[in-house]
Amino acid sequence: MTSYLSDYVQQIKPSGIRRFFDLAATMEGVISLGVGEPDFVTAWNVREASILSLEQGYTSYTANAGLYSLREEISRYVSSRFGLTYSPDDELIVTVGASQALDIAIRAIVNPSEEVIIPEPCFVAYESLVSLTGGVPVHVHTTADKGFKATAEDFEAAVTEKTKAILICSPSNPTGSVYSKKELHEIAEFAKKHDLIVLADEIYAELTYDEEFTSIAALPGMKERTVVISGFSKAFAMTGWRLGFAAAPSEIRNAMLKIHQYAMMCAPAMAQYAALEGLKNGIEDVEKMKKSYRRRRNLFVETLNEIGLSCHHPSGAFYAFPSIKSTGMSSEQFAEELLLQEKVAVVPGNVFGPSGEGYIRCSYATSIEQLQEALVRMKRFLHKTT
Ligand code: PLP
Repeated sequence: MTSYLSDYVQQIKPSGIRRFFDLAATMEGVISLGVGEPDFVTAWNVREASILSLEQGYTSYTANAGLYSLREEISRYVSSRFGLTYSPDDELIVTVGASQALDIAIRAIVNPSEEVIIPEPCFVAYESLVSLTGGVPVHVHTTADKGFKATAEDFEAAVTEKTKAILICSPSNPTGSVYSKKELHEIAEFAKKHDLIVLADEIYAELTYDEEFTSIAALPGMKERTVVISGFSKAFAMTGWRLGFAAAPSEIRNAMLKIHQYAMMCAPAMAQYAALEGLKNGIEDVEKMKKSYRRRRNLFVETLNEIGLSCHHPSGAFYAFPSIKSTGMSSEQFAEELLLQEKVAVVPGNVFGPSGEGYIRCSYATSIEQLQEALVRMKRFLHKTT
């Protein structure tokens, strides 16, 4: 029987992360290092602002692009934190998570058969979102010895006449890598040379631990060709609120708004009021959470290396991406056996792309006690299996 489904949809695969969560959910006593979200509850003042908005009856649609006051605050925020200049009038859009910002940015610029170069291992949504437009995701392989980062030469080797954009994620999910200013300069020169758009997923921008974060959009001549994707999920511990934003040159931002107004109308009003409070009075909390992640990163990565899982140094986000190659197991085997034998849930690296084979992703956004217990279990597992 012919399928009713669109060819583009048939082409994409369900996210490989879910299978492990479904398995872990059936077991007792599992320590999960699997989920990519903060273990903090959203700050009380942020929750209260949302409750107040409901009490005051602000329950209608907002402007399609988001509350003007929120866009103004985002404009001030990206300027003071990252040196970016975006107008609330026509260069910012409030979205349903960074996920939707990514989706509409890609749909706004990619025509069928146009290529988007994506260094991998990478966030699971990128490839599928490009494929859903009829575009072609082109992977660039990265390696641990180069910090899982693609260089301008790597991009140069992948570029063709059909290349429309490159998609970079810094700090990275799943590897925690952060591109330096120098590396971004070189990538920026490459993008300008080939007249490409840069989709910059900066959802973890607040979470860098060793060096200051640089946005590629802040480099000379880059604002006009960059779409910055960001949001509140990670730094403000607001994953369930579903609130993100994008900053882009007005032509692209207006195209994104066209899609957004038909597909979504606007982001949830009560979440927008919460985010407004987060930006006005929540930066101290962001800093506190960041300090706590840094402590956990130091402990977790150091111990991983000690127990024999060699791990490149993750400078940002809240993920460690250690190699499990010494065990001789595949990523899937390792993750499954670790879950079944020691009840520790991690994500096999191959779900983030072929370069992730031989690695696992561990989120250290969980308590120090849980991390220590997970490490004891992992050490025991390694003794048993190697
Ligand atoms: N981009 C990256 C790199 C992510 O890791 C995630 C979530 O895990 C997202 C985007 C989506 O974030 P949001 O919750 O804002 O949709």
